[in-house]
Amino acid sequence: MSNKPRVGIYGLTSCAGDQLAILNCEDELLSLASALDIKSWVMAQSVNDEESELDIAFVEGVIGSDRDLETLRSVRKRATILIAIGTCAVWGGVAAMKNHLSRERMRELVYGDKAEHIDIQKALPLKAAVDVDYELAGCPIEKHQFLTLVGSLLHGDLPEFPQVPVCSECKMNENECLLVHREEVCCGALTLAGCGARCPSLNIACVGCHGPVEEAHYNANFRALRAHNLSKDDIMRKMSIFSSPAWMPKVLLQDDSLEKEGDYAKTN
Ligand code: SF4
Ligand code: SF4
Ligand code: SF4
Repeated sequence: MSNKPRVGIYGLTSCAGDQLAILNCEDELLSLASALDIKSWVMAQSVNDEESELDIAFVEGVIGSDRDLETLRSVRKRATILIAIGTCAVWGGVAAMKNHLSRERMRELVYGDKAEHIDIQKALPLKAAVDVDYELAGCPIEKHQFLTLVGSLLHGDLPEFPQVPVCSECKMNENECLLVHREEVCCGALTLAGCGARCPSLNIACVGCHGPVEEAHYNANFRALRAHNLSKDDIMRKMSIFSSPAWMPKVLLQDDSLEKEGDYAKTN
């Protein structure tokens, strides 16, 4: 990698929130601009080079159309390191929430007689189509994690963020548990930390916007939620908002009889 890495920042089908999170690094933006050779970032600059080889490509959003797939493959071909940024790029995110419904039917409902001209497909994360070298989840990504990532990349490395659930951060903040004390569906135990337990610290249940934590204890968590009289539908609705492709199959596999196996919530 050259001293000043050639970088491209791209958005596929997305809300551009992750790119906005980068732009919101206001105090660090000039340092970023001087440390990186930004070849392409359509959201932030008007002159872009779409032919250049890239040392690092950051890609936000899902593959939701043929055009997205073409863009992603072109970026992958040119980039040494490709990084998925945001829960959409990592897991499918909110765009994949309705993946189980017919795209054709949805296209008709939204676009009526113009539907056939609309290029739209099932929403997929980047790894469904290309090799991804690193994933930074979050909806949007956390500014401090992005800056740590860039700092590591500048030293030829990749960061290892703790693979712990939001509950760990919530406990460190000494919050009262919303599940135990208010019987709310909180996805903190299944969700990757990094946000500092932002929502439970404001008395709002976690809806899992960072996506699933590695080795999540689905059975134990499912039992805990059921022990508080929350229905399987409540649980599925909440958990499928941000990481439907990752979580839905695991939740669907949970057996209703699990609730009879013991009262997890009363012993934890
Ligand atoms: S992860 Fe969130 S912020 Fe990023 S593109 Fe998807 S919806 Fe937008
Ligand atoms: S379930 Fe929610 S409120 Fe309870 S500890 Fe975990 S993150 Fe905090
Ligand atoms: S608490 Fe949950 S929903 Fe809130 S920012 Fe963190 S991961 Fe996202």
